[in-house]
Amino acid sequence: MTNVTETPRRSAVVTGSSRGIGRAVAEELARAGFDVCVNCSSERGLSGVQQLADQLAAEHGVRAIAVAANVADAAEAEALVAAAHEAFGRVDVLVNNAGITRDGLIARMKEEDFDAVIDVNLKGTFNCCKAAAQRMMKQRYGRIVNLSSVVGVAGNAGQANYAASKAGVIGLTKSLARELAARNVTANAVAPGFIATDMTDALSEKQREAILGRIAAKRLGAPEDVAALVRFLASEEAGYITGQVVCIDGGMSL
Ligand code: NAP
Repeated sequence: MTNVTETPRRSAVVTGSSRGIGRAVAEELARAGFDVCVNCSSERGLSGVQQLADQLAAEHGVRAIAVAANVADAAEAEALVAAAHEAFGRVDVLVNNAGITRDGLIARMKEEDFDAVIDVNLKGTFNCCKAAAQRMMKQRYGRIVNLSSVVGVAGNAGQANYAASKAGVIGLTKSLARELAARNVTANAVAPGFIATDMTDALSEKQREAILGRIAAKRLGAPEDVAALVRFLASEEAGYITGQVVCIDGGMSL
């Protein structure tokens, strides 16, 4: 008799998946057969993400749950990961996508705007990584994908808080990669350039034109472009890639 080890059904938590890149990632992972836990920041958005979860389950035959949790709060981040673990029996993939901006030049940037961005983008990523890593180490399998930004690599005038948070995400990711690799848990960061979402809708026409002038591909990215990359890094096949920062920016940073 041959000894066949069955691959368990994989599950994923995608933070900030009510819209934009996170939503596209949740859809892409469900399409690839993952059970998915979608998330928004507060109870106010819960009916929207519950609708998304129901849609993913109906369209792709996967299990899907919706959880409202502010990732900046350690207890809520733990509850988010725990809910997915309880519903699916395991947490194989964590995509730390939740993020905010509070732009302004440093001379005028308020302390609370600096703190808010660090709290959600960096501490929120830490909180969820901590909750998931414990479970992934136990099951000796995991894929962590953290959303950084090209701004975290190169900096950007008017985004000192955001750039610091996204650079922090890179340091966090590389450290986790070193800590977790021996347990078959990878951690990578993706660094998008300009992707057409609510976050970039705020740009003026002049800013948009200036940005397009710097992008070799001459277009903003789509959330689906990022989702395809995340899906690959979240796959079993990507098991020998860890601690990397993958830019996805249409050639902007060339
Ligand atoms: P978006 O359209 O503004 O969506 C942000 C998502 O994050 C929403 O689902 C939002 O949920 C959620 N969120 C915000 N604060 C949260 C919190 N405290 N706890 C849980 N969820 C929270 O953003 P996006 O453009 O898709 O960006 C997604 C990620 O990619 C971010 O990390 C961003 O920094 C990064 N990124 C984006 C671009 C770009 O060009 N768009 C470029 C580089 C990197 P609610 O609906 O509850 O607010």
